[in-house]
Amino acid sequence: MAQDYEALLKQILEMASTYSNGAAPGAGAQAPAPAPSGLEPIPVGISNRHLHLSQADMDVLFGPGYELTKIKDLKQPGQFASKETVTIVGPKGSLEKVRVLGPIRKATQVELLLGDSFKLGIKPPTRMSGDLAGTPGATIVGPKGTVVLSEGVIVAQRHIHMTAAEAEAYGVTNGQTVSIEFDGPRCGILGNVAIRAGEGHALECHVDTEEANALAITSDTTFKLIK
Ligand SMILES: [Zn+2]
Repeated sequence: MAQDYEALLKQILEMASTYSNGAAPGAGAQAPAPAPSGLEPIPVGISNRHLHLSQADMDVLFGPGYELTKIKDLKQPGQFASKETVTIVGPKGSLEKVRVLGPIRKATQVELLLGDSFKLGIKPPTRMSGDLAGTPGATIVGPKGTVVLSEGVIVAQRHIHMTAAEAEAYGVTNGQTVSIEFDGPRCGILGNVAIRAGEGHALECHVDTEEANALAITSDTTFKLIK
């Protein structure tokens, strides 16, 4: 059923792209600077459950010296989806085919959807990427081995990536939280949206697939930043 939904969504998105002209807003390094008003709509990036791996953990899961196979560049510079997937196991159940995102990180981090936490029997807090102190762990099963993670499982806090110049234009700073407003059949305003500004970021607001589905947010949705 999930696959039917995905196929339908893909079809809709393809239809939508047929009728739009030009690239997605903010795509690429040469994207125009936001208007001085700072009210330029912010494009959305919808993230499914995924994980980032340290080299040490990747060596155990996929074999010593293993390198990820890129299948798709993500909008954030240098970030990509890989061909590799793992199984995440908790006390109550497991999730198969959880995708590994590259590149390699210093610490392994698993980003789940809230619904996954019930299936697995793990209670991850909503956190920003990298803020892993005191978070629960999980068991990760790969084709070549198993890693018992003592911490590193989170639900990603929604956030907006932007360059330093864009942060200045919007009048926000790295680490600040703002709200976002969006249109659509389930339009509304969402709070607790963290700003991640600086080098290596491209303008994009990340929400997860549960948030997006619950609020009928699609890849065509844009957000207005509200302070
Ligand atoms: Zn992000």
